[in-house]
Amino acid sequence: MKWFDLRRLDGYLPPELEKAYRLYHLKDDIRVASITMSLLCLLLVVFGFNDYLLFGFSPVFYFLISLRSAYFIYFLILIFFLRKIVDPHKYDVNLFVWLVCSMALVLVINLTRPASYTGYLVIDVILVLLVYLAMPMPMLARSLGALFFTAGDIFIFYILRHASSPAISYASIMALVMANIGGMYTSGHLYSFRRNAFKARIEESNSREELQKAAQEISDLYHNAPSGYHSLDKDGVFVRINDTELEWLGYTREETIGKKKFPDVITPESLEKFKNEFPGFKERGWVRDLEFDMVRKDGTVMPVLVSATAIKDQSGNYLMSRSTVFDITEIKRLRDVVTESEKKYRTILEEMHDAYFEVDLAGNYTFVNNRLCEMLLYSREELMGTSYRHFIAEEDFKGIFTAYNKVFRTGESNKGVVMKAVRKDGTTWFAECSISPIRKQKGKITGFRSVARDVSERVELQNRLSQMAMHDGLTGLPNRVLLNDRFEMAVARAQRQKKKLTIMILDLDKFKLINDTLGHGTGDGLLKSVSARLSMLVRKSDTVARIGGDEFVVLLPEIAEGKDAMNTAQKIVKAFGRPFTVDGHDLNITTSIGIALFPDNGEDMEELLKKADTAMYYAKEHGRNSYKLAEN
Ligand code: GH3
Ligand code: MG
Repeated sequence: MKWFDLRRLDGYLPPELEKAYRLYHLKDDIRVASITMSLLCLLLVVFGFNDYLLFGFSPVFYFLISLRSAYFIYFLILIFFLRKIVDPHKYDVNLFVWLVCSMALVLVINLTRPASYTGYLVIDVILVLLVYLAMPMPMLARSLGALFFTAGDIFIFYILRHASSPAISYASIMALVMANIGGMYTSGHLYSFRRNAFKARIEESNSREELQKAAQEISDLYHNAPSGYHSLDKDGVFVRINDTELEWLGYTREETIGKKKFPDVITPESLEKFKNEFPGFKERGWVRDLEFDMVRKDGTVMPVLVSATAIKDQSGNYLMSRSTVFDITEIKRLRDVVTESEKKYRTILEEMHDAYFEVDLAGNYTFVNNRLCEMLLYSREELMGTSYRHFIAEEDFKGIFTAYNKVFRTGESNKGVVMKAVRKDGTTWFAECSISPIRKQKGKITGFRSVARDVSERVELQNRLSQMAMHDGLTGLPNRVLLNDRFEMAVARAQRQKKKLTIMILDLDKFKLINDTLGHGTGDGLLKSVSARLSMLVRKSDTVARIGGDEFVVLLPEIAEGKDAMNTAQKIVKAFGRPFTVDGHDLNITTSIGIALFPDNGEDMEELLKKADTAMYYAKEHGRNSYKLAEN
């Protein structure tokens, strides 16, 4: 219980022994200080008092407390940093807790080691003076507080130094501790006050700077905006104008503000408009997108678009305008170009010889020119919004749809789509159309445009020519070319279905006699009559062709057996039993038939015809008016 005797060292030991004693205890002091500091740091971390880690100085403090003079330096540093803290996040009670802990520690250390009361007294007095002098109180109160506590401290130390009973010693120590706690607590408040005041000062200066910055930015925006800004008083006089508009006009601010009126800087036509609009604007309080022609100082004209709101006083009287001015020179130029080119194209479209139309993706007309109306005999109103399908022949629906679809899918134009168009009166004509995609935003196809021309003559001529190339001129029956075509198709199908087909050659018996006796014309008539009867005898899928003078071929794709073929031949021979009426004459004529089967008698038409021909000659030689199946 040595440490209870607090006066033991002070003056009781010779100086050299006291020094030795102190050195002896130094090690213990350091150990106690280190452990306590670790605990305190842990406390700080656990409670998250990040800001108080400032008191990381504490390890230094506790380490140095054993070298007492450092105690004072530590507090100087502490106070210096307290003043620096700007934005601690925690409530001040944390600091208070920390301070109490610190005090308890100071107490423990001081009680467990010999101490010089005089040294402590000096330190305490300086500390109290520092704390109180820095307090946020009037000077007098601060000085009185400092004096009071200093006196109290001196008094307590005095008792401590001279008290004879331990009870008084302890009471004094307790009083000292309480005084220190009080001091520390106060310094906590001081810290808090400092911090708040500092924070407020910073915030204030920040917001003042921000305001200034914002004002500067607004001013920059106002003056350097790509649009003009101005304000006009009730007489139209400029009271404010930005740099951009001044630059446009070519006037200086001095020449403009309070001296120029808006009417001074616009053309006479615009002045009319201004006079009409300005009174209403002052009443209503706003105006939108008014076009004016402003006149620059150098006399050149600049088209602008003006929108404005009116600033009014509390009783609603007009004070001034807040107007925005857009330079629309480029817009106007482009608009003129577009209008001009639109006019040009419309004229071309309306005056062109061909029909022009546009349809949307559903196929409804969205634009038609006059020529199309003329060609279809419908009015524009009747056509617009109606599907093109109403105006083409049904057999072309599929083909045209496919053509449009292909243009839509590939995006490539189709230049030669021929369709049969139907007029309002039901008559038809052939149109050759181009189909091109109409693209809108991002290249998306939104419809099609077409130029159509009447190609009826050409189509009809083509049809006639192809008819002529494929048909016999006299009877209109397919000729050898078309027969060959039909044969190829029939063979392909027969091969696919693994079936047979029949081909017959018919040659009229003694036809020359008719020619010779009744003339070539009657002979022709008879040939036509025979053609008609033959065509009626066979099915639609069969082909009757004329391949020479009085020679016909019948192609029967669906008759695959020799027996059936012979039945058909029999039917034909029998049909010739009735006379043919030509030019009022009843003419009797018979025919001889040779029959060949695919693939039994041959694989190609020439071979089959040869076999059938041989069979036919056999029939002729054996009395005519009969038929014969070819032999291999
Ligand atoms: P056969 O029984 O042997 O067939 O005797 P045929 O008189 O019919 O003789 P063949 O078939 O050999 O002759 C056909 C004749 O048909 C020869 C020709 O004068 C005649 N002829 C050919 N083309 C035409 C035509 O376009 N019109 C007319 N009126 N007669 C034609
Ligand atoms: Mg003949």
